[in-house]
Amino acid sequence: MGVFPHAVHVPCAFGVPCTVSRRDVRRPRSRHCVPPNASPNDDATTYVPTDRVAALQSEGAYAVLAKATALEKQGRNIVHLEIGQPGFPTPAHVVEAGVRAIREGKTKYAAPDGTPGLRQAIATHVSETRGVSVSPEEVVVGPGAKPGLFFPTLCLVNPGDAVIYPDPGFPTYKAMISVAGGVPVPAPLRADGKSFDMEVLRKLITTTKPKLLVVNSPGNPTGGVVPLEDITEIVQLAITHDFWIMSDEIYGRLVYDDTVARSCISVPGAKSRTILVDGFSKTFCMTGWRLGWAVMPAELARQVELLATHSYGCVAQFTQEAGVAALTGSQDGVEEIKAEYKKRRDFVVESLNAIKGVNCPIPDGAFYAFPDVSAYGKTSQEIADALLNQAGVAVLPGTDFGKNGEGKIRISYVGEMETLREGMNRIAKYFEGLEVVE
Ligand code: PLP
Repeated sequence: MGVFPHAVHVPCAFGVPCTVSRRDVRRPRSRHCVPPNASPNDDATTYVPTDRVAALQSEGAYAVLAKATALEKQGRNIVHLEIGQPGFPTPAHVVEAGVRAIREGKTKYAAPDGTPGLRQAIATHVSETRGVSVSPEEVVVGPGAKPGLFFPTLCLVNPGDAVIYPDPGFPTYKAMISVAGGVPVPAPLRADGKSFDMEVLRKLITTTKPKLLVVNSPGNPTGGVVPLEDITEIVQLAITHDFWIMSDEIYGRLVYDDTVARSCISVPGAKSRTILVDGFSKTFCMTGWRLGWAVMPAELARQVELLATHSYGCVAQFTQEAGVAALTGSQDGVEEIKAEYKKRRDFVVESLNAIKGVNCPIPDGAFYAFPDVSAYGKTSQEIADALLNQAGVAVLPGTDFGKNGEGKIRISYVGEMETLREGMNRIAKYFEGLEVVE
């Protein structure tokens, strides 16, 4: 039933489309339908979103998945290249730790900022991998990485504060900024998708005086890894212009070749103004477990903890036990999966670049390719729609990630080789039927 599982569609007494809860179906129609041209005195309530949420939009991936599923229900065969979700199972020792914890009765409330065991494991892991000393008091565990993005933003950004974020970039950034009442300032990425256009970024910083800047490396949707010199400059700019940095490193372990993803928090002077966001979803194939973390100065962590207390309360204890096993147990699975993604990346990028008019930079990390398809003179939305409806391949238009994604499409290469081969064949065939106009 889509978004509202308890909703049904009923013919409306006023001739307007009407979706009501199952409970309301039996009520007189006038109580649940809003007649067109209703006067303010009519006994009906119209929902008006608050300013805080009015600009919110869904993630494009959900919308495309829904369209693709609808086509499949009509009997169409669709190759799914839209989802940013690992196809591999969660490593067995991690599953076992979670199941064991349930059997041991670890099914009660936990501390809102995370169990001491998991916060310690995260503090140790971050200290070792980022080369800075992190204590458990600076760690907040959440259901996925998203609360680690959202809640610190709510705690730092006052209405009217500017927040700079990458464009194209993960849609949650703009959402969290607008819910906080901040002013979203999209900063364009370079054509190769690796990093910000630093010249533009410098100007945006001096003109908008941001409270916060979001960095995402490796990045979604481009797969780009921000070079060390840019990371260092961003931290220096943050110190000079006194703003915070939110470093989203959810794909930090998925980096190919000899490229190293550098963390802002590792740069001297950065730690006291950085929120490092990471989690288990991508590295350990744990998207549905909902487990992530953020590292930040302890005073900010206490404030974020209060938001956790009053919203989701805590993350399930047994999920956190699985997290401890993921961080402290064998890392062989992570390396195997990375090697497999690299093969898939090479195949996808090579196949795309073999198509006349398509130009795909080699992504250094994550599991996305972000080819430029602007040579065909169509918008990315038109191309994504045609790929789905005509060729039977679900991809995301680059504009789902911001205006600067125009002319690009996002292809997720998490699927098996066979799926990717079929997807690439269909994409090649579709573009062969088009003319390159620029
Ligand atoms: N950050 C980026 C860049 C992502 O792509 C995603 C998920 O796709 C997240 C954060 C959210 O991760 P989680 O599912 O752990 O909340």
